[in-house]
This record gives sequence, structure tokens and C-alpha cells, in this order.
Amino acid sequence: MVDRKLLEILVCPVCKGALHHDKAKAELICRIDRLAYPIREDIPVMLEDQARKLTAEDLPK
Ligand SMILES: [Zn+2]
Repeated sequence: MVDRKLLEILVCPVCKGALHHDKAKAELICRIDRLAYPIREDIPVMLEDQARKLTAEDLPK
């Protein structure tokens, strides 16, 4: 499990905005930049070059 308090203080490194935690995919999602930051072995990887670009299908309606 990723520490909840850690998740609360994490922001997107690009826009400094809040992130959405996708537990099923183990990703932290920035809807503004359409990036998904991976969580590897419970460690969020907050690097833009490690982030996955979201498609329209990834974004909740
Ligand atoms: Zn962002």
C-alpha cells in the first residue's frame, strides 16, 4: 500500500496540481497534463519522462 499521507502531499511536477490515485492501475494521474505517473513497488515515480501519456479512454468522463 502506498502511504495515504504521502499521496496527499504529492503534486504533479509539471503543473503542481493535485493528482488522482488510480489504485487499479497503480498510477497517479494528472488530468491537466494528461499524464499518469507510475507507482513502482509502492514508490510513486514523479518524473515527467517516466509518465505515461493518457488517451481519451483513460480519462474518466
Ligand atoms: Zn500536471
